[in-house]
Amino acid sequence: MKVIPASFEIQDDLDRQSLAVRIEACGRICYKSEDKIDEESAGPFIEKILKHGHNSVAEMGVVTLKVEFDSEKLAWQFYGCQPRFIQIDRPNRNELLITGSVRAYRELYRENSSIKLIKGITAFLAGRYPLFFSDIVARRGLLPQTGVDVEKLSLDEVEKLPVDLLVKHRYVGVKFYTNRAVTHEIVRHRPCSFLQESQRYCRYSEDKFGSEVTFIKPMFFAEDSAEYKLWAKAMEDTEKIYLKLLESSTPQAARTVLPNSCKTEIIVYANLLEWRHIFRLRISPAAEPSMREVMIPLLKEMAVRFPAVFEDLEA
Ligand SMILES: Cc1cc2nc3c(=O)[nH]c(=O)nc-3n(C[C@H](O)[C@H](O)[C@H](O)COP(=O)(O)OP(=O)(O)OC[C@H]3O[C@@H](n4cnc5c(N)ncnc54)[C@H](O)[C@@H]3O)c2cc1C
Repeated sequence: MKVIPASFEIQDDLDRQSLAVRIEACGRICYKSEDKIDEESAGPFIEKILKHGHNSVAEMGVVTLKVEFDSEKLAWQFYGCQPRFIQIDRPNRNELLITGSVRAYRELYRENSSIKLIKGITAFLAGRYPLFFSDIVARRGLLPQTGVDVEKLSLDEVEKLPVDLLVKHRYVGVKFYTNRAVTHEIVRHRPCSFLQESQRYCRYSEDKFGSEVTFIKPMFFAEDSAEYKLWAKAMEDTEKIYLKLLESSTPQAARTVLPNSCKTEIIVYANLLEWRHIFRLRISPAAEPSMREVMIPLLKEMAVRFPAVFEDLEA
């Protein structure tokens, strides 16, 4: 067995990559198939994911749009649809600022395909990101709409927005390497998108996992304490039983013996407003210590990147 400390990575590098690269990199965490990524792999991976309806993968990339419209009626129709899972602001009378994930935009169109402003948005997205939108618009031959002008904001432009807009429209992904108890708590934060290593798909007896189970070092016990030795013995015994069960059963059956201490990887993708909410709850002394172990240093790093948003919390 392997024992590692909990850690995290803010996905800065992926934010500057194309939507397809970002979404593939996140999606492969479920299967731990990152070794299959190459220059050609994103397209087929994404087509397969969308075909099979594993739509949460398509939540892992957002697009911010500036939408100008020439009549108030277009705005009413749009708001009348009560768009879900999308951030909408109206910085000027004839302008909307909209941020949504690939999934949110796809479903917005699927559910409201007669609304002119949504048609305009989807026509723009289909032209710019055919990989993600051509399947849902192909049958209808969607065209840009008169009276609706759509423009994509770059990440730099989003980061220059006033702070009240920045917090809603800037999304940040964080990959945690932590135990299953912590991820069980993290996934309670409903406005986030999540993708997590799957114990149903991963067979830890395989070479790529070192033929062993990885556990997260519990921060509760000093390494030379009697409690730590007892914990380590329990993990060793569990690993033996898990590997034995794998000889005659599937990973999903064998995993039933795996404990909370198992290492898992999870990507949490949310806007800065939700990250503020998470930090308020998860750095508090009332929070679970293993959660604080990752959230406190994460807040410090977020405050370096976005001082106007997090400095007060960090202080
Ligand atoms: C110290 C601590 C102890 C805990 N103990 C327990 C426990 O014993 N048992 C347990 O079950 N859970 C427990 N939890 C989890 C807790 O109840 C919440 O589920 C979790 O913290 C998610 O936070 P949230 O609901 O405030 O907001 P999130 O899910 O992060 O949502 C953010 C915001 O979105 C809005 N929102 C999201 N969904 C809805 C909705 N459906 N309706 C209305 N508004 C919504 C709210 O404004 C909310 O503030 C604990 C959490 C902490 C921090």
